[in-house]
Amino acid sequence: MILEPTAADHGLYEDTMARFDSAAQLLDIDRGLYKIMRYPMREVTVYLPILREDGQIEVFTGYRVQHSIARGPAKGGIRFSPDVNLDEVRALAAWMTIKCAVVNIPFGGAKGGVKCDPTQLTQRELERITRRYTAEILEILGPEKDVPAPDMNTNEQVMAWIMDTYSMHARQTVTAVVTGKPMSLGGSKGRREATGRGIMIMAQQAAKRFGMELKGAPVVIQGCGNVGGVSAQLLSRLGCKIVGISDIHGGIYNEKGLDVEALLKHVGDHRSLEGFEGEKVDNAALLELPCDILIPAAAAEQITPQNANQIKAKLICEGANGPTSLEADAILDKRGIAVIPDILANAGGVTVSYFEWVQDRMGYFWREDVVNERLEDVLVASFQEVADYTTRFNVNFRTAAYMLGIQRVVDTIKTRGIYA
Ligand code: NAD
Repeated sequence: MILEPTAADHGLYEDTMARFDSAAQLLDIDRGLYKIMRYPMREVTVYLPILREDGQIEVFTGYRVQHSIARGPAKGGIRFSPDVNLDEVRALAAWMTIKCAVVNIPFGGAKGGVKCDPTQLTQRELERITRRYTAEILEILGPEKDVPAPDMNTNEQVMAWIMDTYSMHARQTVTAVVTGKPMSLGGSKGRREATGRGIMIMAQQAAKRFGMELKGAPVVIQGCGNVGGVSAQLLSRLGCKIVGISDIHGGIYNEKGLDVEALLKHVGDHRSLEGFEGEKVDNAALLELPCDILIPAAAAEQITPQNANQIKAKLICEGANGPTSLEADAILDKRGIAVIPDILANAGGVTVSYFEWVQDRMGYFWREDVVNERLEDVLVASFQEVADYTTRFNVNFRTAAYMLGIQRVVDTIKTRGIYA
């Protein structure tokens, strides 16, 4: 069956495909094979009847989209959010295929989600939703089929419930069915810090390539959660000056540099930046602060045609998925601002997820320094390969990363051939 997106489905997926298309046009690839990449392999919608604490039954909607398994098991997070919809999940699944191919790990791409508001659910209700969702998509999950991970509003505990539900049905413990698990259940050392560590590695590589000095370089970070917080910590340890950082409520600025360790302790203690010493700035103004490096590490669509002309950074390292809109890309390009795109810059997380899956299947767990060293190997090589594409095709880093990813997937499909 040929999937034609319905009118209601047009949005993020078509925007994502526009980026795919423009990169694919620059490659000398078979158009028919590329056409396969424009469609997800499989989309599943499930309806989850859940007994609420008040005795009422409510039915929640869940999705799992497997965009590609050409290069290996499908891989991608599961999010719980009121905004989850098929179009978004489909776009994020395609992104995962490209991200895994860019860093050359043997996974395809997937994404999943349940449309729910976790702030309105008890822990027991969340557990029931997770277990029923897992049970409903059980046949398409598995270490060799599709390996979920945490995403928005899902965490180690949710992964543990998925692992347990899957294992109960398999009648044996199957740790490799999900990544991002607690350490006690087959999680990997270094996974929590992996995405922020990846951002630091990318900043180092980009600084080398563009002749920037990291010591004393002013850095602004939007978001101080897992990605933003770890990036701030590791970059400040390298000698960068973190001058601005924010959370959902707003940010703070100090031209002389913030005390990152104290700030992260404050965020840990108060679950918010509010009350920490520094000049207050709102999230829109934060992105326009004077700095050398800007790291959007919070949400999608933050850099748009409305603010792209006001950005002062020389380099943007995308920690979040999709923080720069398609139109803003063109403006940044014209202004000579280098962008290390999400599919490369934040790929540290999925790379250590791959290490977790490998360790689970080996039953042998690595020291943290081994994980970090192998992560660095993968990311430095990937940065170099994308950089080589920028030179060879005279394109920016985003287009080069898409080209590299698409080339790898299409080459695999070509070699495997079409089963029919
Ligand atoms: P998190 O929930 O730990 O932290 C998010 C941070 O962003 C918080 O400080 C929050 O207050 C802030 N925030 C949320 N919405 C905001 C908004 N609209 N404006 C400003 N600040 C806002 O999440 P995280 O794991 O750090 O993920 C951040 C981004 O990175 C997401 O886009 C996520 O998809 C992406 N990402 C995460 C990983 C990972 O391994 N955690 C990997 C790849 C990509």
